[in-house]
Amino acid sequence: MKIKRFFAKDMRAALAQVKETLGADAVIMSNKKVTGGIEIVAAVDYDEPKPSIEAKVAAPNPFDISDDKVSLGGRAPVRTNRQKVNEAPADSLQALLERQQSRMNQQMGQAVEADDMPAWARGLEAPVAPKMKDAPRQATFTPDAEKNRAPGRQQIELDAMKEELASLRNLLTHQVSSLMMEQKNRTDPVGAMLETRLLEAEFSPAVAAKLAGLSQHYSPAELVKALPQSLANMLDNQGDDIVRRGGVVAFVGPTGVGKTTSIAKIAARFAAHHGADQVALITTDHYRIGAFEQLATYGKIMGCPVKQAHDLNELQQILYQLRNRKLVLIDTAGMGQRDMRLVEQLDNLTANSALPIRSYLVLSATSQRRVLQDAVKHFQRIPLSGAVLTKLDESVSLAGALSVLIQSGLPLSYVTDGQRVPEDMKVADTLALARQALDALNEPEYQGINNNMWSESTTFAFE
Ligand code: GDP
Repeated sequence: MKIKRFFAKDMRAALAQVKETLGADAVIMSNKKVTGGIEIVAAVDYDEPKPSIEAKVAAPNPFDISDDKVSLGGRAPVRTNRQKVNEAPADSLQALLERQQSRMNQQMGQAVEADDMPAWARGLEAPVAPKMKDAPRQATFTPDAEKNRAPGRQQIELDAMKEELASLRNLLTHQVSSLMMEQKNRTDPVGAMLETRLLEAEFSPAVAAKLAGLSQHYSPAELVKALPQSLANMLDNQGDDIVRRGGVVAFVGPTGVGKTTSIAKIAARFAAHHGADQVALITTDHYRIGAFEQLATYGKIMGCPVKQAHDLNELQQILYQLRNRKLVLIDTAGMGQRDMRLVEQLDNLTANSALPIRSYLVLSATSQRRVLQDAVKHFQRIPLSGAVLTKLDESVSLAGALSVLIQSGLPLSYVTDGQRVPEDMKVADTLALARQALDALNEPEYQGINNNMWSESTTFAFE
């Protein structure tokens, strides 16, 4: 491009100079008034255009009259050239963008395929793979495809983080509880000592902590005296309520805990108070061989009717027949608590609200605390009116059973301590049970640690 400045007294003369010098293809780039005339900058585009120059020429000018640009010829070659200048790069840019896009697409396509290659990655990507295959090819290159791939990796990282956090939390909990125990050992040695012994005697941590907390309020000597009553107060005791109230009562619980035997004991107890003609027995246990015969034998000895109900309908009919009896006791099948048949049976019993059945959970004191907890958890799916604790005579410690009863809030009605019917059943005496449970603290094996802190004077002696 050739650019030239022209000076003339007026515009007409200036344009004439431009045409004469640069020809009809010249274009006026700018004009301005100057002393004595007018100055014009004109250009003619005869060589390859240079965008930088053009940008320079197009710089703002206070006297800019670029809108007045005139072509001195009948056609507009410069404009055409400009268009070419603009269009050529535009074409190139578009082509370039398309090429880049296609290259990117290819690269991303290869990345997805590469991800499918290693076995470990295949496993990770497996859940989203079918979607990606079905989707149009371009979709695999979109950000959505990235999103589809991201959760796999993110999930792994997230899981790893969760695991790390969980182990850190465990570590912290352990350290904090150790620190707390250390602190408790320093600030409340009696309480710490008592808690340790209660835990060793198989009380639950919650009950042990609650009892040990009493050390804040009592001297060691007072504490020894206060413990049994405090433990007894935590238990809910509703006494001889079955014999007192009568009604329809079902005994539920795990297999072999003593449901049938306890029913016979209660029936005999009730018969002794109200007469054998006021009590009747039903068994819904048609799974165990001899279940009916066992109950029938007890009924025969006591002189009360014993019926067997195979389903809820039959149970309703039998209950209607026995409507004149003050107490009807129902013995249920002692399925393992995870058995589905049991769930059905319990649901049936619960669902039939027309029958005012009160259910009592029978638990064996010989079972481990966790087993008892599990039983309570499962049988609490139906409303429970109370509990019967069996086999006290065979139990080494009552700590676990009492802890479970305290934590579940189940009222205790009766305890049994032998196989004899009806002698080996008593109305629960919570203070006596608490003493029996705390007796374990006097065992030499529970006095092994920190004997120096727990002197002779503070040894538990509840009798
Ligand atoms: P069920 O399956 O829950 O009905 O349990 P059973 O009533 O058939 O009792 C199972 C076994 O435990 C029987 O041998 C009973 O004699 C025995 N049994 C029940 N109660 C006691 C108890 O208090 N002490 C002892 N030692 N054995 C008991």
